[in-house]
Amino acid sequence: MKKRILSIALVAVLAATLACACGKKESTGMTVNDGVLTMATNAYFPPYEYYEGEEIVGIDAEIAKAVADKLGLELKIEDMEFDSIITAVQTGKADIGLAGMTVTDERKQSVNFSDTYATGIQVVIVTEDSDITSVDDLEGKKIGVQLSTTGDIYASDDYGEEFVEQYNKGADAVMALTQGKVDAVIIDNEPAKSFVAANEGLKILDTEYVTEDYAACINKENTELLDAVNGALAELKEDGTLQGILDKYITAE
Ligand code: GLN
Repeated sequence: MKKRILSIALVAVLAATLACACGKKESTGMTVNDGVLTMATNAYFPPYEYYEGEEIVGIDAEIAKAVADKLGLELKIEDMEFDSIITAVQTGKADIGLAGMTVTDERKQSVNFSDTYATGIQVVIVTEDSDITSVDDLEGKKIGVQLSTTGDIYASDDYGEEFVEQYNKGADAVMALTQGKVDAVIIDNEPAKSFVAANEGLKILDTEYVTEDYAACINKENTELLDAVNGALAELKEDGTLQGILDKYITAE
């Protein structure tokens, strides 16, 4: 009899644990909805995230997939404006944000960041015939940026908001440059390379503007997911998977 009560109790505990693991988002624990890791991104940031047909591919998509695989979760990618990613993670619309996102102290007030998985550099794109030859020449020029990115934040701080034109997508800022609406675009180096390759008459200045770390952002409450993601990232670094993904998309100069 005693044994029976014990096993009923055990089943009850097990059921409760399972219900918790599969159920709705909780404020603690590595809880994600129904075994799905929902990733927020802005899929216009090659080679980190971009469309190949209907599918979102790129470094972040592959890293997130590898992390999800390690955690036994299915990956779902939600495309949104870059400016909405942190809010999506804060409100639980997404579990994780990967978007070539730079770790900054200001963002850390809203979300937690995983360990860093890549380095980014803010660079300056100008037209081939431009008289701008270094970041010092940007004073008084019209600078195109992607809204709420670090390029936007630094340019506004360094050169004054009135000289900065914000666009929803990096590609739109680059388009404005080709149309002569802005004199330069400040953006991350890898997307810069693909935008310059895709448009005639543009070049990247040799002088780099700012070097930064990319990481995944996660809801501040979900510290178990943060630990789990960091654990997965460490394994992916260790076994060479992470480097393999970076090398697949970034060719060394
Ligand atoms: N690294 C930049 C930032 O975090 C730009 C990211 C992006 O546009 N996807 O602000």
